[in-house]
Amino acid sequence: MLAMRAIVIREAGGLERLELSDVPTPVPGAGQVLVRVAGCGVCYRDLLDREGKYPFMRRPIVTGHEFAGEISAVGGGVDGFVVGDRVASTHRPACGTCAACAAGQETRCAGSPVMYGLTVDGGYAEQVLAWSASLVRVPAGVALDEASFLHCTAGVALRALRTHAKVTAGETVVITGASGGVGMHAIQVAKILGARVVAVTGSPAKVDALRRVGADEVVLAPPDGAFHKEVMSRTDGGAAIALELVGAPTFNASLRSLKIGGRLVIVGNVTTERVEVNPGYLILRELSMCGSSSATRADLAEVLEWAATGRLKPIVAGRLPLAQAAAAQARLLEKSVTGRLVLMP
Ligand SMILES: [Zn+2]
Ligand SMILES: [Zn+2]
Repeated sequence: MLAMRAIVIREAGGLERLELSDVPTPVPGAGQVLVRVAGCGVCYRDLLDREGKYPFMRRPIVTGHEFAGEISAVGGGVDGFVVGDRVASTHRPACGTCAACAAGQETRCAGSPVMYGLTVDGGYAEQVLAWSASLVRVPAGVALDEASFLHCTAGVALRALRTHAKVTAGETVVITGASGGVGMHAIQVAKILGARVVAVTGSPAKVDALRRVGADEVVLAPPDGAFHKEVMSRTDGGAAIALELVGAPTFNASLRSLKIGGRLVIVGNVTTERVEVNPGYLILRELSMCGSSSATRADLAEVLEWAATGRLKPIVAGRLPLAQAAAAQARLLEKSVTGRLVLMP
């Protein structure tokens, strides 16, 4: 039996739970292809997966959900993909037949239980079994390691800002956790959509990188976290939109950065803590809040096209071999990463 190397999680826990293992190379079945992984992004969600924050997660499992590569084998009933195609994946294949899918909202698909790295094996591996319904072709001119994470960074930001926040040109968007993988791409997506961007970071060392990637203003969060005062002083009564990439630690300062009628979209939840919200503040200022989980194949295809034409620059923080998966996740815990780390099997 052919074997391949992969990072397997057998039990929830610390970095030592990322075990480099030899596992059987999967064989694609109906609707599936085998992808030779060229790169897999290291996402903050990977840390939550490893720690067991998703009760429905299957174990043992090959972790990782941000992969791209070349198709090395094709199963039955797969239309539109052949061996050698360069592809990147979304978080999960949509069923294509439920009401959400019929309405073009495949991130809300109720018919597919497949989620890479949670219910089926993911991309911290030399090869990954992928459902063709999750794949998008990577245009020439976009490197596969850079394509690997564009779904979960730029794609997620595009979905949150355009579909959910309904950003319009000239509006101000405040982005928390701005120097992370999602943040560094969200700044660029907001600029492409015509917004003015106020980036929030807790690290003075990251201010220049945020400016270089396009932030119009960079706000350094004070130790008490009350960055909204500075946002208010740099905007006309507050931002129209807050893109919340952190979660509980910054949630209320994001709300207080909004102008009357503003919209908060939450994408990140790094501490998984609960948030206390004052309902009166929402009522009096007529604020809206919503969550945004993922991106569709159309969103991914669009950001890949932006990367191909140079409008969007994938920000790679570093490339590490698969065997250094734990070291890569340790760097995320240290908050020392600007952009996305990529594992190269
Ligand atoms: Zn991710
Ligand atoms: Zn569906």
